[in-house]
Amino acid sequence: MRDRLEALQNSGLAEIQKTEDLKQLDDLRIKYLGKKGEITELMKGMKDLSNEERPLIGKLVNDVKEKISEEIDLKFNFLNEIQRKRQLETETIDITLPGRKITKGGLHPVTETELFIKEIFREMGFDVADGPEIEETYFNFDALNIPETHSSRDLQDTFYIKSDVVLRTHTSPVQIRYMKDREAPFRMICTGKVYRSDYDISHTPMFHQMEGLMVGENISFANLKAILTEFVSKVFGERKVRFRPHFFPFTEPSAEMDVECVVCGGKGCRLCKGTGWLEIMGCGMVDPEVLKEGGFDSEKVSGFAFGIGIERTTMLRHGIDDLRAFYENDMRFLKQFKK
Ligand SMILES: [Zn+2]
Repeated sequence: MRDRLEALQNSGLAEIQKTEDLKQLDDLRIKYLGKKGEITELMKGMKDLSNEERPLIGKLVNDVKEKISEEIDLKFNFLNEIQRKRQLETETIDITLPGRKITKGGLHPVTETELFIKEIFREMGFDVADGPEIEETYFNFDALNIPETHSSRDLQDTFYIKSDVVLRTHTSPVQIRYMKDREAPFRMICTGKVYRSDYDISHTPMFHQMEGLMVGENISFANLKAILTEFVSKVFGERKVRFRPHFFPFTEPSAEMDVECVVCGGKGCRLCKGTGWLEIMGCGMVDPEVLKEGGFDSEKVSGFAFGIGIERTTMLRHGIDDLRAFYENDMRFLKQFKK
């Protein structure tokens, strides 16, 4: 057995010395040291040895295993190094080839309009506020003077989470939250997502609004007209505007603001349905009840509020006629707006 072990060691070491590649080396590792390898095979003879001899041979087996294993490791490092060097010599990089183009993303047209609108109001000194999208009915309806019986509270319009918690149906609750921790005078806007249960060519269940509020002493409808006319001219260029009486629960008096049609310039076309005018926003003087909910004395201060749909504004800016296109994630559509 001693002789056979010695012979095994010699042939093993010799084979390892001779081998020139890593795959062969791995095969040798299996051949000698593997579970079904030659040494394991040899050890099957251990049971026939005498009790005195068994530990001595056992030690010898371990020595042979260790020697072969060491030799394999050495050779492995050596071959690996050679292979790496060869790779460095043969693989070259052609630095004259043009690089791969890095494509840059763009803003979604709705986001772009939102930022654009915010910037216009920021330049006019408006503070930008934010509020939760999951809102209490108190802020979404009650504090805004929207009675229990108002149709906008219906389940078919509003996503209710609990009987007193909804996905906000407009950005107006942010105004109430803002008023509650502010002193007059102030001017603020907020933008964000709002939710209504509706889906067709001009409605999506989620859309974006921008809402603004200005409160102080002697704020009048003339101030409202001045600020909003200035805003519209920055978005759509110098165009005629008009204010038509309207009704909103949270403003009194209320108005709908129209701008001269961006396509036909007032002559009448498909977009303006022949009227020459496009509705762009709702506005009005803040209702005394709403001021009171916000913590203000309507005898001392007054204010105006306005709200605009960001999708609609984007559609009018870019001549898009189906609102749903914004949310279909069609890259061919979205890429047109990349700057
Ligand atoms: Zn028109």
